[in-house]
Amino acid sequence: MPSQQQLDYAKRQTSYAWAKYYEQINSAHNGDINVYRQNLRVLEHQDELPIHLVNEIEEMSKKLRIQIQCPICMEVNLCFSQYYL
Ligand SMILES: [Zn+2]
Repeated sequence: MPSQQQLDYAKRQTSYAWAKYYEQINSAHNGDINVYRQNLRVLEHQDELPIHLVNEIEEMSKKLRIQIQCPICMEVNLCFSQYYL
């Protein structure tokens, strides 16, 4: 039977792994938000860009938005991700 010390150690290891996992998820999420905002800034000048690029960026932004928007209010902001910080 494992000792209390071994159990505590296993518990700490598991907590650490979960913390790292959520840290990674959060970092990827924030990265996606940055790319999305950058896309919107580029699209403000879409009349200066070739149409195939505009279409590509619009398509990418649509997919990205679905990934990063809040599942409850559908806004792209930090309202949902704040709970994980
Ligand atoms: Zn929300």
